[in-house]
Amino acid sequence: MSTGNVRLRVAPSPTGDPHVGTAYMSLFNLAFVRQQGGQFVLRVEDTDRARFDPTSEQQVYDTLAWLGLQWDEGPDIGGPYAPYRQSERLDTYRPFVDQLLASGHAYHCWCTPDRLTEMREDQQKRKVPTGYDRLCVGKSYEQRVELGGAQATPVVRMLIPDDAPLHFTDLIRGEVNAPRPDDQVILKGDGFPTYHLAVVVDDHLMGITHVVRGEEWISSTPKHLLLFDWLGWERPAFAHMPLLRNVDKSKISKRKNPAARLTWFQEQGYLPEALLNFLGLLGYSLPSGEEVFTFADMSASFDWTRVNTVGPVFDLDKLGWLNGHYIRELPAPSLQSQLVPFLTAAGLYDGSPEHEALLAGAVPLIQTRMALLSECVDLLRCFFVSDESFEVDPAAREKSLVAAGPVLTACADALSALSTWTVESVQGAMDAALIEGLGLKRGKAYAPVRAAVCGSMISPPLPESMALLGKDRVLTRLRAAAV
Ligand code: GLU
Repeated sequence: MSTGNVRLRVAPSPTGDPHVGTAYMSLFNLAFVRQQGGQFVLRVEDTDRARFDPTSEQQVYDTLAWLGLQWDEGPDIGGPYAPYRQSERLDTYRPFVDQLLASGHAYHCWCTPDRLTEMREDQQKRKVPTGYDRLCVGKSYEQRVELGGAQATPVVRMLIPDDAPLHFTDLIRGEVNAPRPDDQVILKGDGFPTYHLAVVVDDHLMGITHVVRGEEWISSTPKHLLLFDWLGWERPAFAHMPLLRNVDKSKISKRKNPAARLTWFQEQGYLPEALLNFLGLLGYSLPSGEEVFTFADMSASFDWTRVNTVGPVFDLDKLGWLNGHYIRELPAPSLQSQLVPFLTAAGLYDGSPEHEALLAGAVPLIQTRMALLSECVDLLRCFFVSDESFEVDPAAREKSLVAAGPVLTACADALSALSTWTVESVQGAMDAALIEGLGLKRGKAYAPVRAAVCGSMISPPLPESMALLGKDRVLTRLRAAAV
């Protein structure tokens, strides 16, 4: 394959919220494409009408764009091989089905679903391998009807030969052995091709040079190789990525793990650069061993032989660590604008100039304390909550405010005498009154003040928070908690 001509694709099926695996596959496809100066195609495989979800396609665009995984051709932006939605290509597949029927590589099958179930149950009872028993091979519809269990609308199946290619070379795994396939259905009764036919036809017609997909497709590859050979087409290269796994090693599924949904990462406040780095680390390591890397680093060093073959474990602690790292790296104005949607959704932020100024002041106080953007809601509640709605949470009240009246009053008296209100003056007055004056240790002195002023046992640094809140709000809260 010559440099510059590589064409790779990701081929999600729009069946609900985009799966994290779509981003993972896109990342690895794209790392290679950008290194080689080729093209990345987004193809929508929507031939499974039973599982089709009309909102899913837009979510695929939105989540991949959020991650910066930009495709060069796709249903939304077009390209030289349009259309890129399989449901709009139905006329494309039929001539190839006819060609395979004419060459004897495929046949009509009229078996009813009931007959196929009976056949399978019988095979299981007799403990023989299950698979289509070829009752329809070499028969006309009339001949088949005489045998019973036939329906008028046939499907089309591949006639898998005894010498089907069960070995192939994988860019990641080297030589791979796959099991012998069953006579795969390639055209359904509704006239839609199955994945197996559509993927081969489209990969060929769209000039795909490398098929990079999940390892669950290894067992399908022999069928695809046969189709490429029968249709007289050059085989692409194959790379099967290891499946993402839960910590208990099970496959990540949207039903069992919220982190299987790409939108979950947006809701939780992961940064796209952190998720990309994490997905990269799951399957790849830089030659330097460095764990923090960008897409550009990964792409520059990309080499299929450095991709793991063992299913990487989806360790959210590691992702949290990476996210904290990338949050700390953000310029403050960028972090500020990324926090606004979380605070707005929590009903805390109204976009007024006062709120904007308050947020600008608060960002430096929390930037080093967050693993997730969504944590800003609890950390910043005390600044944005209205004075009428402010409450000390019950745990903080119980732990720090019982019998704390004298401490809070001493603090309020000292602070009320201040004529300048800065971090230094607030801290100086508090320390003088509580540590020197009442002989308290810093922890004991600050805990009730923190509970009274911030409403919680956890807050941004206390003197800085008080400086930002302003004298009036601080004094009101201290006096209210002192009674
Ligand atoms: N539509 C298939 C999927 O969603 C694509 C598999 C492939 O890349 O060939 O997994």
